Amino acid sequence: MQDHAIEIEKLRKTYGGTKRTPAHEALKGVDLAIPAGSIFGLLGPNGAGKSTMINIMAGLVRKTSGRVRIWGFDQDVNPRQSRAAIGVMPQELNMDPFFTPRAALEVQAGLYGVPASQRRTDEILELIGLSDKADAYARSLSGGMKRRLLLGKALVHHPQILVLDEPTAGVDIELRQMLWQNVRKLNERGMTIILTTHYLEEAEQMCDEIAIINRGEVVVRDKTSALVDRMDGKTLLITPEGPAPAQIALPEGVTLERRAGGTLAFTYKRRETPANAVLDAVRAAGITIRDVATEEAHLEDVFVALTTSRPTPVEAA
Ligand code: ADP
Ligand code: MG
Repeated sequence: MQDHAIEIEKLRKTYGGTKRTPAHEALKGVDLAIPAGSIFGLLGPNGAGKSTMINIMAGLVRKTSGRVRIWGFDQDVNPRQSRAAIGVMPQELNMDPFFTPRAALEVQAGLYGVPASQRRTDEILELIGLSDKADAYARSLSGGMKRRLLLGKALVHHPQILVLDEPTAGVDIELRQMLWQNVRKLNERGMTIILTTHYLEEAEQMCDEIAIINRGEVVVRDKTSALVDRMDGKTLLITPEGPAPAQIALPEGVTLERRAGGTLAFTYKRRETPANAVLDAVRAAGITIRDVATEEAHLEDVFVALTTSRPTPVEAA
């Protein structure tokens, strides 16, 4: 068993750079290792470089430089094996309207050189809930069915790694739940899942680990539980009457930052420290409180803070 499903080192991708199209650096030297067996989330705003990264992993886009190993196979050394280890459900619906789901799966299996005896077309149709539409033309399928078919196509060659690029963007709740059930089922059977999404709540529920990517760089990479922990942070802003003393005894787990204008910013975890404990410490230090305000962190805030180029200026009280 592999430790890492994917290992990426110093990965760069520059698009354009010709006379007609100016160069655009979509990936600026990304290092990322994705553990085998996990459900891994790649988060980031539009244009961050998520699809570029995924398409490079899948061998659909040519990297500018860097090293990519898929299931231990270096893409440049063993292109065939590295491609065989990964299946991608693309962001865009691209399918031939004249194929039936069964034909689309068979053709895809053929493209990957899966011999007829090893094809599991019926099993895949069953998994994606299209058994009864197996012989209908793709153009007669609903949007949701087409998406499920894309998932099926990603599975025909039994890859160890399944990549889903924005699988639930613009899909209804029912389909979303079906997709996630499928994903969990496949993961339980040992498949490594990599997905991009901009639904933070979804990432929180589904992913063991998360990397946030912005402007072609990984800005944070952590276990989802650790990220959620960070988000549990709350800041109590206290403006004292007059200057605050140099020494303030803080309860455990509370940190103090002295901000412009004399405001004291106490940061703590809601789950661990009640606000009252902070207020008691402030009073015990002999501080008279002129004003109190709070700042609360949400996944949204962490995301925004990490993906905007400038830090939000701190308001002086
Ligand atoms: P994401 O999937 O995170 O939204 P993409 O990887 O699609 O981001 O795009 C990253 C950047 O690269 C964007 O600025 C995008 O405009 C640019 N880009 C993506 N594909 C191409 C392409 N084929 N040619 C030129 N620029 C591209
Ligand atoms: Mg994308």
